[in-house]
Amino acid sequence: MGSAERESESKDAQLDADRGSKSPLNPAAQAFKPSPTSFSPRTTSEVWFPDGGIIIVCGSSGFRIHGGFLAFKSAVFKDMFAAGDADAGANETSEGCMVVRLPDDAADMVRLLDALYSPRKYFKGKAELSFDIMNSLLKLATKYRFTELRADLVELLVDMFPSDREKYTLEPPPNIAGDPYLDPIAAVEFGLTYNIPAILPAACYEVAMMGMETLFNTESLFGLHGAQPMEVSRTTLRTCTVFLHKWHAAVEEALDADNLDCEDPWVGTCPECDGFPDRQMRQAVERRYRLLDRDIFTKQNAHSSRAIVVEGLADCCESCLEGLDRFDDSVRDALWLKLPSLCGYDNWDAINEAEV
Ligand SMILES: [Zn+2]
Repeated sequence: MGSAERESESKDAQLDADRGSKSPLNPAAQAFKPSPTSFSPRTTSEVWFPDGGIIIVCGSSGFRIHGGFLAFKSAVFKDMFAAGDADAGANETSEGCMVVRLPDDAADMVRLLDALYSPRKYFKGKAELSFDIMNSLLKLATKYRFTELRADLVELLVDMFPSDREKYTLEPPPNIAGDPYLDPIAAVEFGLTYNIPAILPAACYEVAMMGMETLFNTESLFGLHGAQPMEVSRTTLRTCTVFLHKWHAAVEEALDADNLDCEDPWVGTCPECDGFPDRQMRQAVERRYRLLDRDIFTKQNAHSSRAIVVEGLADCCESCLEGLDRFDDSVRDALWLKLPSLCGYDNWDAINEAEV
């Protein structure tokens, strides 16, 4: 059916509906009398284009939109409309428009249509992209294969939780810098629910940094950033818990002198100074990796083993301190390589290949 035809049919149907209606203010609701779930598009939805040829109905909300535009953006809608056109007689219609009833939440649909018709609203003013909005958009963009919108969302998330180490070791890491900020538990939830493996290692790592207590204190979740508190899925809880558990084993392995790809800084003697005879010093350095109470991938000097040693032991030669820097590099390299295996992937290649 051509758009001109559709438009003229639409006008006729509008007249019919107006004549037959006891409530001329709301003809669409009358037209839907036979259906158990009538809707009042004009009162519940702002997305109502008079020249639209499709009415999408979610719950009690109707959205009159342009079918061609939706089909252009989404492979699923394209197929849906093509099937509808082929079997026009079987379609429910209102005001001359094909009516498509969907099981989705109307609030999700409003956000989806907003993002499609006004992309700047979310992608230029990133701060508006709260957890709730991202969840709505990812849910429907994934379900209905709005590939461009989904790619924009994935790109935004990958910028926040990079799989590229150079990007992650920016100071501070992008998400921790907080503009925009997304609770890393929400990021894990997104990564698992909407199949975005690239963000899982960094997101799980940031959850691990927050600690187990925060993970199970669901009341605090998402409350900080204006979003509604949300129940975290069991899969997310399990993934984060397993990550933290495996982190401890990975740290022991990385700290093991046999696995260092530099000289063990804790043994040997130094001609310039006393080296590091203090056992407690070593424990203080290693504790930082074990406890993960702050970011260990950062290159910021204040967080380095050097800083811990200098703080506790004033006279130590530069050569020994450089040995400690190499020790940090070795441990960090080993742990970064391990991150994917802590959240269920063999390695970084597997993460990148799994990316859709
Ligand atoms: Zn020395």
